[in-house]
Amino acid sequence: MGTPVNIIVGSHVWAEDSEVAWVDGEVKEIHGRDATIITTTGKTIVADISSMYPKDTEAPPAGVDDMTKLAYLHEPGVLHNLACRFALNEIYTYTGNILIAVNPFQRLPHLYEIHMMEQYKGTAFGELSPHLFAVADTCYRAMINEQGSQSILVSGESGAGKTETTKMLMRYLAFMGGRSGTEGRTVEQQVLESNPVLEAFGNAKTVKNNNSSRFGKFVEIQFDNNWKISGAAIRTYLLERSRVCQVSDPERNYHCFYMLCAAPAEDINRYKLGDPRTFHYLNQSSCYEVANVDDAREYLETRNAMDVVGISQEEQDAIFRVVSAILHLGNIDFIKGDEVDSSKLKDDKSFYHLQTAAELLMCDKKALEDSLCKRVIVTPDGNITKPLDPDSATLSRDALAKTVYSRLFDWIVDKINSSIGQDPNSSSLIGVLDIYGFESFKINSFEQLCINLTNEKLQQHFNQHVFKMEQEEYTKDEINWSYVEFVDNQDVLDLIEKKPGGIIALLDEACMFPKSTHETFAQKMYQTYKGHKRFKKPKLARTDFTVNHYAGDVTYEADHFLDKNKDYVVAEHQALLNASTCSFVANLFPPLPEETSKQSKFSSIGTRFKQQLQALMETLSTTEPHYIRCVKPNTVLKPGIFENVNVLNQLRCGGVLEAIRISCAGYPTKRTFDEFLDRFGLLAPDILDGSDEKSACIAICDRMGLKGYQIGKSKVFLRAGQMAELDARRTKI
Ligand code: ATP
Ligand code: MG
Repeated sequence: MGTPVNIIVGSHVWAEDSEVAWVDGEVKEIHGRDATIITTTGKTIVADISSMYPKDTEAPPAGVDDMTKLAYLHEPGVLHNLACRFALNEIYTYTGNILIAVNPFQRLPHLYEIHMMEQYKGTAFGELSPHLFAVADTCYRAMINEQGSQSILVSGESGAGKTETTKMLMRYLAFMGGRSGTEGRTVEQQVLESNPVLEAFGNAKTVKNNNSSRFGKFVEIQFDNNWKISGAAIRTYLLERSRVCQVSDPERNYHCFYMLCAAPAEDINRYKLGDPRTFHYLNQSSCYEVANVDDAREYLETRNAMDVVGISQEEQDAIFRVVSAILHLGNIDFIKGDEVDSSKLKDDKSFYHLQTAAELLMCDKKALEDSLCKRVIVTPDGNITKPLDPDSATLSRDALAKTVYSRLFDWIVDKINSSIGQDPNSSSLIGVLDIYGFESFKINSFEQLCINLTNEKLQQHFNQHVFKMEQEEYTKDEINWSYVEFVDNQDVLDLIEKKPGGIIALLDEACMFPKSTHETFAQKMYQTYKGHKRFKKPKLARTDFTVNHYAGDVTYEADHFLDKNKDYVVAEHQALLNASTCSFVANLFPPLPEETSKQSKFSSIGTRFKQQLQALMETLSTTEPHYIRCVKPNTVLKPGIFENVNVLNQLRCGGVLEAIRISCAGYPTKRTFDEFLDRFGLLAPDILDGSDEKSACIAICDRMGLKGYQIGKSKVFLRAGQMAELDARRTKI
């Protein structure tokens, strides 16, 4: 990003600061490389000249709506611009055609009213204040004008506002592509109402976000020949299963559990529920309520939304019966049984919950107990029944709860898809991606590796788009461009997903080999990737490994990788639920094909996720992408607080800084000769007569004193800020 220009006494500069990232001030003295600065807050600091940037003293105090308009485009300038705008509740800012959205953590209703949608409808990008409606509108028009599919990729860390943004984008698309005046359940209504249903079953309160999506989602909205919404498909990725049986303070389990516990008395009786504090799957954390959320009301709203998306009353009843059964399952405890290493129900309370769970799932009580306490082992000489000790029985219980819940979630997604319907004759689609951002915690596990693989893929897609498109455009127009160095992340992708040899492939091998442990798996990685640029074994580590991701180093703990990668349904659980007299439950566990039913076969979550990701990337590659980067201004989830260091880190992880660098290195503004003359012809009306378009463009640029621009075969290529310069001249006329 921008090169530090000569800094002298009296210069206004930005200097690095460990606490707030950058501080601004005036240089008072220089000795060698050290400059003494009096900051605007009155402090005196000494800093190295080479790490300083000049400050634009003429930058408008309210900031600029597009980063590429900044006179000095550098990291502190970008950050300061976002902060100034945020202070004025201007939460949206462009960086070229990327939209940056800073979460206001307060309702700003005026921003999303219907008259705002009307304003943005059909208005050229950049003409009005930056807004997600402008992105949605550009997409809709591009689909019509270029007859092609579009996608909007929304990214950011947990709590940054992806899901809210996605919902608003969908509202705008429904506004443009809806059939006004149509009675009953329209496709667009169903698409919109799918959100509260998915959130009830797939969102939870976490430390980072009171309404955190615990799955990734790609919504594909299909349009017919009249550009009206004619169908939709929702694809979901990697629901967090462990949350069903494991929650810690101050987080909650999935919203639906608490909603159901707050249901009207009639439903509470029907599902044999009560205080959420009495259920083990909920009371491991002491958090039961979410600020400003009324679970009782949410329950009724979820039911309404389920009606709209076409889930029948009987199906809803079955869904909530299953949800309740999971809570009862969690209350079944085991103690040592009479035989060696066996287990039995702990007490009458456990017996009551077993009975209730069996009733709700409409399966045999004894069969349920056996499926939890015993395991059938297939041997060449026939089947042997082996008892499980209390710990293993508890694990078996949790495995059943997780499997049932994830099957239930998948069923809901499938149902919504079939009820909305797919349009096989759809002309084009607009896809909206709301998927977890890059994660790096103190302890990182298999889930983080999958999430970060997703982000590596999307980052590659993003860079390719921003960079290669830029390059191609210059090459096509035959202009000279000195290529900026571009760090490709293909090597990290290979490290993780290459087959054979990548981390996921090694993990699958380890999972299939009965004797492997996480230590042998880690050893295998250490050997295989010795000397790999992107892989490191931390000092003294036994199972940890570090991957050098595009957004920084992440150290993973391999300890639970094998378990977490294995996705199999215990044969006893499968048989039990398949035999349920409730057809809904039985259908969640359809009979397995002959050859796999004998032994619970291993299937790899990592590999399946990789394939899903591959399919997603293929879909995305057939679309024209648009990017929205959501930013979380603070970790306390409060309005008005802007934490510099935090925000900068997100801009880096989201590739925004990289995109700015690429864009600045080249020519962010391109206009065909025709467009250029349309806009700027009046700057030199005399030139227009007689000369050809190209010469006229050159003449205008020269007369306006532009430096460093380029003229291609068909377009004028302007450097960052030059468009604004010309616009300013134009308005003076
Ligand atoms: P996760 O990855 O955890 O799902 P997310 O990026 O989807 O996080 P959201 O759930 O969209 O985050 O946003 C978190 C919260 O921030 C919302 O519940 C809402 O309170 C607030 N928020 C986000 N965007 C806006 C907005 N545009 N206006 C007002 N509040 C917002
Ligand atoms: Mg979300």
